[in-house]
Amino acid sequence: MTNEISHLLEIIETHRSFLLLSHVDPDGDAIGSLIAFALLIERKGKKAVAYDQDGVPEIYRFLKGCDRIVSVIPPAEHFEVAVFLECPDVRRAGTACSPFIEKIPLWVNIDHHMENSRFGHLNIIDENLSALGETLFDLYRESKEPMDSAVAEALYAAIMTDTGSFKYINTTPRAHEISAQLIRLGINPYRMYEEIFETLSRPAALIAARAHSTLEIDNGISCITITLDMFKETGSTADDTQEIVNLGRNIKDVEVALLFRETANGVKVSLRSKHNVNVNEIAVKFGGGGHLRAAGCTIEADMKHAKEMIFAAVRKALQEASGHARPNER
Ligand code: AMP
Ligand code: MN
Repeated sequence: MTNEISHLLEIIETHRSFLLLSHVDPDGDAIGSLIAFALLIERKGKKAVAYDQDGVPEIYRFLKGCDRIVSVIPPAEHFEVAVFLECPDVRRAGTACSPFIEKIPLWVNIDHHMENSRFGHLNIIDENLSALGETLFDLYRESKEPMDSAVAEALYAAIMTDTGSFKYINTTPRAHEISAQLIRLGINPYRMYEEIFETLSRPAALIAARAHSTLEIDNGISCITITLDMFKETGSTADDTQEIVNLGRNIKDVEVALLFRETANGVKVSLRSKHNVNVNEIAVKFGGGGHLRAAGCTIEADMKHAKEMIFAAVRKALQEASGHARPNER
């Protein structure tokens, strides 16, 4: 890992202009990592454009430095290096960036998802990390650049959100140790939590209430459904739905929680599991991916068919898992 970080630092030293990209439907780790990387490049006196096709969700807009993230790449810009953050494959960055990235000669791929396709010239992949923010922390440490409060907040937001506020199975001693160092740098953990999780907008609260009322529970599987009509009725957007699947996950005896969200081009499925179903494997079957216990995919079908396909795959996985449950994971 250290070798790869040194290689990345060498690339940063020897190039001048960088396009930083993260995935569609960005989460706190995507946004925090983009900000921290952009600030490092700027600190070195170089040019960075940080890009996310879907922009910055409202709940992360308090982060200093988030104004650097654009959802349209300035057409006249020329870049020497593309840095993909949190993208298991190039498609995860969305299609709008394709004309730009094809012209960029050097690609760096930094990720912690399972099944990353290693599409970069330099690939820094560690699926054991709680969040990609950990790699950015290592990058700052190796570069000897000091972390100011903007960087510390961005990295704390990355780790806090990807660990579900330090409660999911990916919460390691190192996630806590790094967070402790960030707190010592002056960030306020309660303020961070409050800004991200206790500032629901009215439309976000209304869509959560509507979505929760669709909850179904069946043999260890919970299912919540969000339709396009619900967005219209509540004035909410997809950004407002990131936490909704957790109600289904918090139910006793539910192993797999599913959220089906209707979109203009199909159905976005979020999958969460607790102890013994590898939801990454299921999502990969449908062209998506993620982690062992949290994954997603988009299915180009109507709601009824998307549900049939996913339920069949989840039931099969549950059956297989019941044959070899891992009690030490409880
Ligand atoms: P979500 O259900 O969108 O909150 O995503 C859960 C996890 O799966 C996150 O780490 C996402 O980055 C990842 N993920 C979601 N959708 C996809 C996809 N289509 N391809 C790869 N990873 C995904
Ligand atoms: Mn992440």
